Amino acid sequence: MSLLPPSIDPVQRGKPAPTSDAPEVLGVAQAREFLMAAMRHPDPAAPGQVEQVPLSLARGRVLARDVLAPHDVPPHDNAAMDGYAFDGRPLAQAGVDTLRLLVQGAVRAGVPWAQTVPPGHAVKIMTGAVMPPGCDTVVPVERCVAEGRHVVFDRAGLRPGDHRRLKGEDLVQGRPVLTAGRMLRAPDLGLAASLGLAELSVHRRLRVALFSTGDELREPGQTLDTGCIYDSNRRSLAAAVQALGAEPLDLGLVPDDPVALRAALATGRDRADVVLTSGGVSQGDADHIRTVLADLGTVRFWRVALRPGQPFAYGELRGTEGDVPLLALPGNPVAALVSFLVLARDALLLRAGAAPEPLWRLRARSLHAIPKRAGRTEVLRGIAEPAADGGLQVRTTGAQGSGILSSFTSANALIVLDEARGPVAAGDEVDVWPLDGLI
Ligand code: AMP
Ligand code: MG
Repeated sequence: MSLLPPSIDPVQRGKPAPTSDAPEVLGVAQAREFLMAAMRHPDPAAPGQVEQVPLSLARGRVLARDVLAPHDVPPHDNAAMDGYAFDGRPLAQAGVDTLRLLVQGAVRAGVPWAQTVPPGHAVKIMTGAVMPPGCDTVVPVERCVAEGRHVVFDRAGLRPGDHRRLKGEDLVQGRPVLTAGRMLRAPDLGLAASLGLAELSVHRRLRVALFSTGDELREPGQTLDTGCIYDSNRRSLAAAVQALGAEPLDLGLVPDDPVALRAALATGRDRADVVLTSGGVSQGDADHIRTVLADLGTVRFWRVALRPGQPFAYGELRGTEGDVPLLALPGNPVAALVSFLVLARDALLLRAGAAPEPLWRLRARSLHAIPKRAGRTEVLRGIAEPAADGGLQVRTTGAQGSGILSSFTSANALIVLDEARGPVAAGDEVDVWPLDGLI
């Protein structure tokens, strides 16, 4: 049975199923839609899918259940500034320019003042202290002059209720304050702590089995045989997987040999939630991923109108406990990372239980012309920076070959030229994706 809704299932739409024999080139939007439908979280409520973690370990994890506020935050009206708390009603009356109040004492944060403060009186108060009964307003200390037991201040600009934080103005008891699917960030953890929560329910980390294919690949640290290169994709992709909060399972280097590939894919299927590979997915004599995938499951598509990153296969490996998605990325190091970001990232987040937030797209003026062919999405590595007019400008990082990884390391953004777009002239606006924090 297909995992995919009829709207995007090419089989059910009456198109030929994309297989290794019938290569259909999917547009990026269509491929993404396909992946997002196919890689929904299988069963977020299943046992073993959710774990409790202390707040100190929760950053970057995916919240599994909504968090409801168990009480109001702040839990009481309190002072927003150091000053004097008093009954602010006289401020609403005309004719008095200066207030002179009798100071009854001082109240600090954490030690509430019990007695009601009568009109015409004040209590010195520190930021965060509970508002004493009878007081609704704080006059900041820097506006005040002490005269014996009195405090005197000009009322200009001061209104009843000023400099007081209201009970529940941040969070209201019983309301959802963080929703399931959120990737937890620093303020979220502060918020959970402000509610008195020491732990949160999060999805267990998505396990992503990862291997590189290619007879020519060698491990960094080994001597390089003639004609060989070091495997860079496994390092960059493992880090990109970790940046999503998932856990890479390193299955090493696999030669261009169908038997070895089959064994590696089966291991990934049995030990991980998703399998991610690079290389061996195009049409060369040594490209066996698709035939082995067709043997172990189903190839859904393997060509996407994306440059770099056109040979990108998606399929499912048949497993005893359900199908395991396979994302087979191209071998060229830039293509592997670009297709990871454009196609794999959101689908992996979804599979991890997260509700992926769309990547930021900014508009920037291109400092030079960029050749572009309509009919495919093209992604360049760029350096975006503020322009003299306050806008954003971008230039590419030089040679953009799909094997030139240095074009990525010097970039701070991707320039994304959508399918319909033709050549870019100098000064034209283009979309850029900031790379910061993404990979
Ligand atoms: P393939 O997709 O296997 O045809 O590989 C395309 C190009 O990427 C070839 O030049 C490979 O040598 C190179 N390549 C493939 N895998 C890797 C890798 N893991 N690290 C670095 N380069 C790679
Ligand atoms: Mg290869």
